[in-house]
Amino acid sequence: MRRILIADQLIDGFNQKPIKNGVLIVQDEKIEAVTTSDQIGNNPEGEIIKVPGGTIMPGFIEMHAHMHCSAEPEAYDHVTSESNQELLMRSVEAMRATLISGVTTVRDLGSKNEIAFAVKKAVQERKINGPRLLVTGTPITTTAGHCNFFGTEADTAESVISALRHQVKLGADYIKIMSTGGVFTPRSNVLAAQYTTEVLRLAVEDADRMGVRVAAHCHGTEGVVNCAEAGIHNLIHATWLSGDSAENWDYRPEIADMIAEKGLWVDPTIAIATIRTEKGIPFSDEEILASAVLSDMEGRFEILKDMWDRGVKFVAGLDTGMSYVEFGDFAYTPQTMVEGMGVSEMEAIICSTLSSAQCLGIDDITGTLEPNKSADVLIVAGDPLKDIKKLHDVDTIISQGHLIKRTGKVLI
Ligand SMILES: [Zn+2]
Repeated sequence: MRRILIADQLIDGFNQKPIKNGVLIVQDEKIEAVTTSDQIGNNPEGEIIKVPGGTIMPGFIEMHAHMHCSAEPEAYDHVTSESNQELLMRSVEAMRATLISGVTTVRDLGSKNEIAFAVKKAVQERKINGPRLLVTGTPITTTAGHCNFFGTEADTAESVISALRHQVKLGADYIKIMSTGGVFTPRSNVLAAQYTTEVLRLAVEDADRMGVRVAAHCHGTEGVVNCAEAGIHNLIHATWLSGDSAENWDYRPEIADMIAEKGLWVDPTIAIATIRTEKGIPFSDEEILASAVLSDMEGRFEILKDMWDRGVKFVAGLDTGMSYVEFGDFAYTPQTMVEGMGVSEMEAIICSTLSSAQCLGIDDITGTLEPNKSADVLIVAGDPLKDIKKLHDVDTIISQGHLIKRTGKVLI
């Protein structure tokens, strides 16, 4: 089937300027051509999808999902008490919600193996609806460490390597390892490192050997530094929390330079506060006290902006499934990059598409609008280069050539 998408402008995902009166021609599951309305004649062959005032752009790439987590305030209780059958039903619904928000590729960054691998297979076989799905399987963590209840605990270098190989054997597209504790896991230490640089380095070397990349969760500065030194391909959060209770941050610009020089990607997961604020869910005093990210948002944005200015590559992850972070919420990430970090609208869109595809190693098939790439396309109603919030208003979605949404109406 041939489709002709016509709108006021087209963002291809790599040029800094949009193409005025852009037209995208899609043939079956591939992009055939990027052109303009004066080049297609009066009667082009195919189904015309025209959105006056709209913007054609690549589908979003969501870098950080936990498909079986509920996104409710009780997300921790749910994931630790529910049966695999219940978690599986949540995951199926989560993948659908992700797709109909305009996300055409998603990386699950840690879910139980019985769920993540089964859901990936079902999406691939089109038994259920979902975006292109890359999975890490269960995160590798220390005994009692962050997200230990997902199922893979490994304390020594040897056990980390064998846990990593086991995930690859099961079909992991990416490896997730927990470099520090996390707030989701009671009694894990957010500020302290869970692994030495040496253990992380061995994990990276073994992953390289097998052709997978490694993403590592890191909040406390000790864990961020270890990830940078070990050459972890994708740092998650990179929060730079100080180990000294008198300070919020322990930011090390020289380590940010190292992250930039090594070409490591950072997924700062910055949308949570924006989501809570815009949905009118206030933070409790306990939450603010417990979290520098909430009590000093300005400080966090300043650090991220400095990293950006030093040339660190950012990707767009939401951390869906964590409390209050729902699977249709992707557009809050580029919104927060613009409103909080002060990057341009175009840069935030490129982080949410091409940069994320590069970090996943799939930029040869998706992430930009170019001939022969997968037809993963959105038409946004309005101009997100003038108002980034327009990314919430997706009129049309095509995912791997399948029409998912048109004139705002979900078709699946
Ligand atoms: Zn996460």
